[in-house]
Amino acid sequence: MNHTRFKYPRETFGDLPVQLHHLTIKLDFFEDRVEAENCLHMTVRHELEQLSLDANALEILHVELVERPDDQSGTALSYEYRPEENRLLVNLPRRHRSGERLLLRTLTRCFPSDHILEGIYKDATPPGAPQQFISQCEQWGFQRIMPIFDDCRAKCTMTTTLTADAAYTHLISNGNINLHTNPDGRPVIQPGDPNRQVITYENPVPMAPYLFIAAAGTWDELGDEVVYPSGHRVRLEYLVPPGRTADARIPMDILKEAVLWIGRTQDYEYRGDTYRTICMNKSDFGGMENVGNTTIVTDAALIDDHTMDASLMYAHGVIAHEFEHNQCGSETTMETPFDVWLNEAYTVDVERQFLADLFDPTFVRLRQVDSIRDPLLGPLGIEDGGRLGRIVREGFNDPNELIDTVTYVKAAEVIRMLRLVLGPELFRAGKQLYFSRFHNGNADTNQFFRCFEEVAEISLETFKKQWLYTIGYPKVWAETAFDPDAKCFRVTFHQDLPDGADPFHVPIETALVDQNGKDLPDTGLVFQLKEREAVLSFEDIEQPPAFASMNRDFSFYGTFFHVNTSVEQLTLQARLDPNAFNRVEAMRRLTDRQRVRLLINPDAEIDVSWLKVYGDILEDHDLSPSLQAYFLRIDEQPLERRYSTWYPELVAARDRLMAAVNQAYRRQLVERFLHLHTYSPGPSARDGIEERLLKGVLLELIAADDSPESHHLILDHYHAATAANDRVTALLLLNRSSAAERLPILEMAYEQWHRHLSGYANYLRVVSGGTCDDVFDMIEKEKGRSSFDITQPTWTRALFLPMATNTRMLWTDHGIRWLADKVIELAPVNTTTSSRMLNAFQHVGKLRAPLKEWGITALEKILAAVPDSVSPTIHAQSRSYLDSV
Ligand SMILES: [Zn+2]
Repeated sequence: MNHTRFKYPRETFGDLPVQLHHLTIKLDFFEDRVEAENCLHMTVRHELEQLSLDANALEILHVELVERPDDQSGTALSYEYRPEENRLLVNLPRRHRSGERLLLRTLTRCFPSDHILEGIYKDATPPGAPQQFISQCEQWGFQRIMPIFDDCRAKCTMTTTLTADAAYTHLISNGNINLHTNPDGRPVIQPGDPNRQVITYENPVPMAPYLFIAAAGTWDELGDEVVYPSGHRVRLEYLVPPGRTADARIPMDILKEAVLWIGRTQDYEYRGDTYRTICMNKSDFGGMENVGNTTIVTDAALIDDHTMDASLMYAHGVIAHEFEHNQCGSETTMETPFDVWLNEAYTVDVERQFLADLFDPTFVRLRQVDSIRDPLLGPLGIEDGGRLGRIVREGFNDPNELIDTVTYVKAAEVIRMLRLVLGPELFRAGKQLYFSRFHNGNADTNQFFRCFEEVAEISLETFKKQWLYTIGYPKVWAETAFDPDAKCFRVTFHQDLPDGADPFHVPIETALVDQNGKDLPDTGLVFQLKEREAVLSFEDIEQPPAFASMNRDFSFYGTFFHVNTSVEQLTLQARLDPNAFNRVEAMRRLTDRQRVRLLINPDAEIDVSWLKVYGDILEDHDLSPSLQAYFLRIDEQPLERRYSTWYPELVAARDRLMAAVNQAYRRQLVERFLHLHTYSPGPSARDGIEERLLKGVLLELIAADDSPESHHLILDHYHAATAANDRVTALLLLNRSSAAERLPILEMAYEQWHRHLSGYANYLRVVSGGTCDDVFDMIEKEKGRSSFDITQPTWTRALFLPMATNTRMLWTDHGIRWLADKVIELAPVNTTTSSRMLNAFQHVGKLRAPLKEWGITALEKILAAVPDSVSPTIHAQSRSYLDSV
């Protein structure tokens, strides 16, 4: 790949010229600005005459050398500020040799924005309170607050003093409150100014700048405590918008569960006295670990009547995830942004184990595989573009590009596969070595792997090379044969590779299954395919198995096909495989066969045999609701990825399949729907999630006929619903129907929900998910309402992003032009959402006529309208899509 495409290629990350020891920081918050004094204590590592500091969008007032941080004045230094390079060059009075100590003090100002959500920024302010400020420093936010070596390796201790309006309830930074200056553990009134308050924090553990937090805000506080079996107590605090402590009770319970679970299963005990969770209203991300001060976007941090089930599950995940970052990230930190996958993938893996413990593990795994296959943002789709997919990148244009599903989903799969390759015991030993060897330090990708190689006494070179440094995924197919004379069952695994490419190291979880749905004794194993082709032989097999269950639980990241399986075998597998994931997968393969026939010939008949299997599943009341939902859900995306960009044809094929099911089983669908009780769920927040999922799938199948009876059912469900998930599902289906009540009911929902952050987001998603002809006008109308705020990422995401996956409406001349216009409009306001929407064009080269031409025109328009100076990410992204045509 051509390095010049990246603004920050890997080689720009050289050695740090100094060793940073301590920062003495003073931050003064005002309505429109924050004044910062920062004294950097450091030792010179490489002889120098000039210091080059990162400084982004700052006003530089003064730079000087001092003897002590509290000196009144020091030796003023000349400097050159290059804002276009985010660089402050400070001239030292003489050449400093390696080993010399320096105390450099900077006096600067920053100007928090309401839409650049990095550094200190303006969050939503509660009524009557002073301007709310929160910070986001990962990756390069610290340099937007004050000059710094904004580098993961610049770990140091800190003393931070915050001064602000006395009306704030909290002034927050990292570390412990200094009890000399603040004996009550609270801010004190600033001497001589009763309108200002001041607090000092001491952070005694070396910390990377990206973990810094500085916040001044008005919150209500919910306090609790968790006690480890060792007796160590940790105070837990939730800082929530005024009046919402009740909505933090479920999250607090999840947090307590997560803290003890991580203690039990990950051998990690949090060492601090307090662990705080802070609600932020605006963020491009779900949450951010800031060493003892996790920020979580309010929409996901609090659980109330507007919380959708996906958000509820997300809340479980993000709470465990951010807490696990104390171990992986904060104490043991990535070496450079190129190793950010290490921080995240391991943490996601822990979060997933937590979820699998709390929910049905198959349901959790099915959801993960959905995220792998997600057509817009999933890593398989991204990799199909052929430009992205390397976990360890060669460069980036904006560090936020590193926060994508390659890092969060593909890389987490690599950790999962590493555990399959090593086995759980060696994996555990390896990670223990890693976290002890690099405790309070930095580690890079090779150092991480060396720990596992050492404990397992094997080389992981091939594993590492293919999984981390290659774009693309293994495409594995298997052929099976039974030899009755030799009593041998053979599986030939083969991976399709481009010429000259090395094979992946692929762990394939496999077993043979008999006619009664039992694994044949001693056939369950993890086969490690390391070559282009390899044979797995099962000896002493008396009777041929009913089928081979391969790639159980999606054991490797990639695609898998069993080339000589039959409809009969797949049908048996869908009914009998002890691995529930593979039962669903077998059903999907059966459905895929129908889908592909329809793609090629839209008038093809749908097989009665497929409908029969479908009907059997509908009647199978022993299935768990989530499993039944996954069985019955008819996806739009094919497993055969060569058809993944046949968008209009995929919509038409799904319509045919849904209609066929509706015609054959409408009565049974309605019966099953009415027999599922979701209006009075059990006492736990987790109760009812699976039932509501199933109910949503059934209702969509019922509503496929768009009949008055179906409209009634949707409306009854909407009015009877007690959980947000039921209500929103019904409203979405209503918005896709021809029901006369559609617009009046939508307007009523707007009236009822728009004052609530999450409720409004739910409503906006319904609007953007519509399939009637007025959908684009409706989106425009919502954008124009006074309640809508385009700088609120939760709402902007909710109103625009669903259209990027709304295949039916998007892939028309009008839809494509709409998307281009929105990408252009959002690029300067919310690059993250804009970039995600732009992903819809990632396969422009593979589109069929006339979509391809329309897509190219749209990309050319974006490229011209969004120069690099407005958004380097959008500019480079649209260029790379065009380059691939
Ligand atoms: Zn994370």
